[in-house]
Amino acid sequence: VMSTGNALYARYGGRSTVTVLAGDGIGPEMLKHVTKIFQFANVPVDLEEVPLSSQPTAEEDLDQALTSIRRNGVALKGNIETKFDDPTFVSRNMALRRELDLYANVLHCHSIPTIPSRHKDIDMVVIRENTEGEYSGLEHQTIEGVVESLKVTTAENIERICRFAFDYAIKYGRKKVTAVHKANIQKLGDGLFLQMAGDMAKEYSNIEFESMIVDNASMQLVKRPQQFDIMLMPNLYGNIISNIACGLVGGPGLVSGMNFGEKYAVFETGTRNTGSSLAGKDKANPTSFIRASVDMLRYLGYSVHADIISDSLFRVLVEDRLHTPDIGGNSSTSQMIDALFRHMEQEIKKQVV
Ligand code: ADP
Ligand code: MG
Repeated sequence: VMSTGNALYARYGGRSTVTVLAGDGIGPEMLKHVTKIFQFANVPVDLEEVPLSSQPTAEEDLDQALTSIRRNGVALKGNIETKFDDPTFVSRNMALRRELDLYANVLHCHSIPTIPSRHKDIDMVVIRENTEGEYSGLEHQTIEGVVESLKVTTAENIERICRFAFDYAIKYGRKKVTAVHKANIQKLGDGLFLQMAGDMAKEYSNIEFESMIVDNASMQLVKRPQQFDIMLMPNLYGNIISNIACGLVGGPGLVSGMNFGEKYAVFETGTRNTGSSLAGKDKANPTSFIRASVDMLRYLGYSVHADIISDSLFRVLVEDRLHTPDIGGNSSTSQMIDALFRHMEQEIKKQVV
């Protein structure tokens, strides 16, 4: 899992090329900041920007985006707006994940000192199955007023997401995996998930395993989130639980999200918002996008560059206490970015000595 320095993909003369999908809302301005940050830190990554519109007519856009990601192996993306009113239109975000078979969505949610939140000392990883379950896209109306939505569960997809979670635990020195389910009601589908997770846990005797029903898990998260280490779950519970987890450590502007398949990796914000109401106002919190870019650099094996950016970001948030309005401050995005450059300059000097 999360292998670094994937040499299979476009990497010329020690440089990498990654696909950038700016998305809607604050995506484009956030990715402009990331571009400047990469230039400032001399990151050997070329950004290949591909337009991907939210318009259902733009099929070619989607093909182009997929071709670019398949060539580069890696993408950094903002979220694309999804309209509710057209039942025939599959979300662009979902289409990308499905086509690239990005089966694992991973969010690392941890408390940051100085950022106001209800709880301290949270450090957990939410691992979500990202291709099936309630997101199968199979819905139909049998007769007027009766709709069936199919939640699809396959042993094959459960196997690989569970394997991913336990391997992740080993690789990153995590102690416990909690499988979150509703097997008391969804006896067959979630039952299969619960059973397979439990069986696999026996192969990983150093990792503690427990299971928790999703309603209780939600309550436990609000009451005592520190009890969780890795939370492993099917698609829709993962969507909801990851938003609770992000909310617990400060909201949508802070946490990044990673999507992995066998071949490709896509880095984005944890809660996958567009933040459309904030676009062009210089108010959005750039932290989640910057962290997504740092995750990407680590994945590509550029750990020195990743550290320079992430240590500097930590200083901006914790030492300078520059906070945007979403986390209770009154700083602008550009004030945070300017401060980031000042810290990066210091960090880069340290590297040279
Ligand atoms: P909208 O598109 O209407 O802004 P979203 O559903 O995309 O709403 O986002 C949910 C909420 O999270 C909104 O209030 C939005 O302003 C906020 N939000 C999303 N991203 C950020 C960010 N990077 N910084 C601050 N607030 C954010
Ligand atoms: Mg939005």
